[in-house]
Amino acid sequence: MGLIQVYTGDGKGKTTAAVGLACRARAHNLKVCYIYFHKDPDVWGYGEVKNLQRLGVDVFGFSKEHPFCKDVGTKEVRRECLKGLEFIKKDVYRQDKYDILILDEINISLRDGFLKEEEIVEILDSKPEKLELILTGRGAGDEVIKRADLVSEIKKIKHPFDENIEGREGIEY
Ligand code: ATP
Ligand code: MG
Repeated sequence: MGLIQVYTGDGKGKTTAAVGLACRARAHNLKVCYIYFHKDPDVWGYGEVKNLQRLGVDVFGFSKEHPFCKDVGTKEVRRECLKGLEFIKKDVYRQDKYDILILDEINISLRDGFLKEEEIVEILDSKPEKLELILTGRGAGDEVIKRADLVSEIKKIKHPFDENIEGREGIEY
């Protein structure tokens, strides 16, 4: 049976946990699809993307820019996010070839108003029964939490960023 998991909160480790789960799943030959939102590996070279592909995970990205980092319009970001949802419904769900689907930072798409709650709820409610669905990102929506079987809130006690230590290659990205 596939469950819905949510990794949220303001501490470090949400994406890392999702990547760790993908790594573990591949060791058991489970088929994993990893979709990231609001990240551009071409700019930051997110190490996880490259290595997940090496492990045989299918990786896709949508809405790579976020207005917080780059001069990009809200409408454009929304359009890209919607493309991501269409891809999930048409390609991932209909083909039904994965055991695990990870939606990295999709909570941010909702929190920052690029997607509507009902649009994400539709993704949760229509998932194939056996598919394990993982959503990451701060500020998970109430309706998402309501539907999830597992919710972990990672709470920041300390983060080096607060001491002006910037993200380090290989550790934070
Ligand atoms: P990671 O990708 O390291 O597992 P995360 O997914 O939990 O982190 P995000 O909210 O996605 O964290 O944060 C994106 C980036 O900010 C990551 O590089 C992460 O390491 C870093 N980060 C995480 N938590 C904090 C924090 N409390 N303050 C500042 N930066 C953070
Ligand atoms: Mg993250």
